[in-house]
Amino acid sequence: ELQTPRPVGFSRSRYGGRNAVTMIPGAGIGPELMGFVRKVFFETGMPVDFETVQIDSKSDNNDDLEYAITSIRRNGVCIKGNIETESQSQAIISRNVAIRNELDLFVNAMHVQSYNKVPSRHKNVNVVVVRQNTEGEYAMLEHESVNGVVESLKVITRDNSARLARYAFELAKKNGRSKVTAIHKANIMKLSDGLFLETCINMSKNYPDIAFDHMIIDNCCMQLVSNPHQFDVMVMPNLYGSIVSNVICGLVGGAGIISGKNYGDHYAVFEPGTRNTGSSIAGTNTANPVAMLNASADMLEHLGHQEHCNNLRTAISKTLDEDILHTADLNGTAKSSDVVQNIIKHIKTITGNI
Ligand code: ATP
Repeated sequence: ELQTPRPVGFSRSRYGGRNAVTMIPGAGIGPELMGFVRKVFFETGMPVDFETVQIDSKSDNNDDLEYAITSIRRNGVCIKGNIETESQSQAIISRNVAIRNELDLFVNAMHVQSYNKVPSRHKNVNVVVVRQNTEGEYAMLEHESVNGVVESLKVITRDNSARLARYAFELAKKNGRSKVTAIHKANIMKLSDGLFLETCINMSKNYPDIAFDHMIIDNCCMQLVSNPHQFDVMVMPNLYGSIVSNVICGLVGGAGIISGKNYGDHYAVFEPGTRNTGSSIAGTNTANPVAMLNASADMLEHLGHQEHCNNLRTAISKTLDEDILHTADLNGTAKSSDVVQNIIKHIKTITGNI
């Protein structure tokens, strides 16, 4: 499994051998998926206590958000669903983005690996997407200069590009991966993406044992669909990362499977890789619980509970690949709760706690 380099100074709240983790259910299917995480953790004795923080999507103030950020700073670690922001107030920005910015979670790392028996366009995909998570097109500096003319600023900085590129190379080194590919549009955005690319090229010189190449985002999308196996570790600015993550998740079975990790120097936030809300299927017991459970496995690994993490990942693989117990998004007929119950059964069998 993918070892993510953990920056120094990481905080994690711990007492009596257990960890406290902030849980933000978010909107849509978020609350039911968190219910499944709690159920699996409770029934299999995972050593984590959750502090649940609700964020009201309709609220016109940021009180909930500030409380959530305080809680994450205290616990060091968070698992979250997607937060909706329904307020039209100019003062209220996306709370998902605000959390990443406030905690300086500059990396989003997504390990996309195929499950053998999940229906998908390609088999044996094994790619890591390392995405800039706090700037670029998500700088949220937009204004209407005159009526009908909107300007939106994309911000790329050398410092953030360099620490992201370093993270991608360190991840490659730690996991014995052989190649890093930088994705960009420097032929058009010569200054902004040009700086990103130049920074990646410079960083690659510190890692002579890891191959480095770069590709324009449009060609990258075509190559991903036709031959994803050529990619190993990919590193890119924010918006391309959002699109590429969704393309690759689509290649291996959709939104319900893969998890994503958000890291800064001090905090870590875990969530489903494609960050969907899934409002149309909320409350129907049909959402695939695997992406959120994989996020909780990533969280266990980060906290140092490697054995619990391995048990959960093994139980998920057995459920998808051996029992072929699939929810509707994978053309199966299982309910979310059937999948969760089966995963619990496997963990109990592995641990002898039947
Ligand atoms: P919203 O209206 O809030 O955008 P949505 O359901 O229309 O919600 P997304 O949240 O963007 O759309 O999700 C994209 C698609 O992926 C939807 O068809 C959604 O049902 C599906 N999806 C997302 N997460 C899961 C999941 N865990 N299991 C099954 N399908 C999912």
